[in-house]
This record gives sequence, structure tokens and C-alpha cells, in this order.
Amino acid sequence: MAASVYFTPIASYQETQRIADSAKSLLKTIVEREQVELESAVPLKVHFGEKGNHTFIESKNFEGMIDYLQQQKTACCYMETNALYRGERQTRTSHVKLAEQHGFTQIPIVIADGETGDDYEDVEINKPHFATCKIGKDIANHKQLLVVSHFKGHMLAGFGGAVKQLAMGCAARGGKLAQHANAIPMINPLACKKCGACARHCPANAITIGRWSRIHKEKCLGCASCMPICQHNAIFFNPLRMTISKSFREKLAEYALAAHLGKKNLYVSFAFNLTRGCDCQGSKMKPIAPDLGVLASTDPVAIDQACLDLLDKQNGKRVFGRGRDTLEYAEQIGLGQRAYSIVSI
Ligand code: SF4
Ligand code: SF4
Repeated sequence: MAASVYFTPIASYQETQRIADSAKSLLKTIVEREQVELESAVPLKVHFGEKGNHTFIESKNFEGMIDYLQQQKTACCYMETNALYRGERQTRTSHVKLAEQHGFTQIPIVIADGETGDDYEDVEINKPHFATCKIGKDIANHKQLLVVSHFKGHMLAGFGGAVKQLAMGCAARGGKLAQHANAIPMINPLACKKCGACARHCPANAITIGRWSRIHKEKCLGCASCMPICQHNAIFFNPLRMTISKSFREKLAEYALAAHLGKKNLYVSFAFNLTRGCDCQGSKMKPIAPDLGVLASTDPVAIDQACLDLLDKQNGKRVFGRGRDTLEYAEQIGLGQRAYSIVSI
């Protein structure tokens, strides 16, 4: 049977109250119609937007959903993981500060992978790319998430919605790195001041400091937690090694499976501010298509497929052309299904 995707069209992101009310009504609908039993605590997995980004989905749009969960006596918090790249979201302290500056103040904020991104659980999936995935500890330890996604474009993945929010959004720093390159960070010996902080921090004793400071491949776990430790920006991830390829998208799908497996997750996607780049970009971007509305489902693959199809239909062309094979592979490995039926609310 096809998955149900519940959809409320809304023509403008400026209709904040209507968006918040619709998200609340959609959440209530999936809980009731799909007979989802709410856990006593359900974190909202969100993205706070990088500093300088103006198109992330603001927290006032989530107030209806928070209201609904609180009415159901379900404890909730905002949950996020640290970013792989340099910026305000790289450590818990600065990440929480930025989130508060961006207005995420209604409920507590939990950074699931700790101060520096190395608190994680290995979640076993036994798939072709990964036997286990490094999922942020607080995410792995919850039985249910409300996965709140901003549907828009993404430079590497083609588009970002529920599957991307699960994959990159729930992975600890090392898991993000594993998806991007399955590689290790590097030290720029010319920038290294030889303070030794990274070597003292490294859980695998994989760093040698000297004239040519370096990370030993054979010892490195790929946890990436040395990157924010270095105060001199000498540890970096080489973007040329990113695999802009099918295997990158398959890895995304496998990580998404790890964050979904065994949980009774709920998915709500906001298809507004449809930029080509993602909310990790700390710059102003212009939308490339008109706003669409709010969608909800219990199936992360179906909700992403529905977003793509509805956008294509609305615009008479493929809005986000790349990355659709991610959903095909996600379906193959059992994350969800691409067949869906739209239920208008
Ligand atoms: S923390 Fe940075 S500057 Fe210090 S030794 Fe490591 S790479 Fe060099
Ligand atoms: S060098 Fe150490 S801290 Fe850095 S990614 Fe490798 S294992 Fe983690």
C-alpha cells in the first residue's frame, strides 16, 4: 500500500500564523490517522540556520507543533548535531548561542553529539557502505523524533528534505565526515602552531605534532572532533575529496536509515524559501521557485518524493533535477517507499 503524505498548500512564507496552524493540524492528523503512539519525550530535529543565512525556517513556524505536543503531555526540545564545517555551529556552546540568536527559545536546545561532535552511538545497519553509523548520542537514545525539514536544494545531494535531515542532520561529526568522503581530516603544517591540543584530544592517538604535523590514516577513526579543537584553523577537510557521486547519495540513504531504524518517527517538511543551496550556507540566497506548503508523513522517502513531484507539477519542470537516485536507493534498503498518495488537509 502506498504511503500517505498529508499536504496543505500555502502560497507564501509570509503567512506565518497559517503555516504554524497548518503544521499543528498536519501533525495531529498523522498521529491520529496513522495511529502513532507518542512517546513521553519527542525532540524536534531541526536546523538552526548558519550565521548569515536568511532563508532557514524560523522557529515561530514550529510553535503550533510544540503546542500540540505539549497538549499531549509530551516533553519536547529542539535537537541538532554539530556541523562538520567551520562556523558558529561547530561546537555546542557557539551552536546554542546562534540558535538562540535565531529565535529558537521556546523549548530547551539539545546538541545531540556533545560539545565537539564526538558523543555518538554506533548504530548497526549492515548495508553495502556502512556496517554501523555514528549517530548523535541523544538522537540514538530517543525512540521517536519529530523530523522537521526545510525542503530546498543542496549543493552535493541535489535537494535536501527528510532523508538529508536524517542522514547529515542526525550524524555525529565523524558520521558526517564518513558520508562526505569516508576519509580523514588533514593538518596544514604551515598553519599548525604546534600547540598539541589536537594530539591531546585525539581518542585514537592518531596525531603527530612536529615540523610536518600529520594525522595517521591507519589510526584515525574519522570522528572529526579534532577539527574544532584547533584554534588556528590548521585542521581541515579537503573538499576535493568529496564524492559528488552516486556513492555519496547512497551513503546519505544508509545514514538516514540508521537514524530512522527502530523509531516511530514523524516527518513534517516545510517547502518554502526554495533556494538552490542549503541552510548551512551563511549567505543570502534567492528562492528559485514559488513557495509550496507544508507536508507530513510517517515515511521519509514518500514525503521527499511528494515534495519533488508537487514542485515539478507546480512549475511545469524539474525544479531540483539532481539526486533523485537517493530516494531509489533509500527505497531499496528499506527506508521507505516512493509510492505515495496525497491527502489534502
Ligand atoms: S591544535 Fe592545531 S595548531 Fe595545535 S597542534 Fe593541532 S593542528 Fe597544530
Ligand atoms: S585524528 Fe583523532 S580526533 Fe581527529 S578525526 Fe582522527 S581520530 Fe578523530
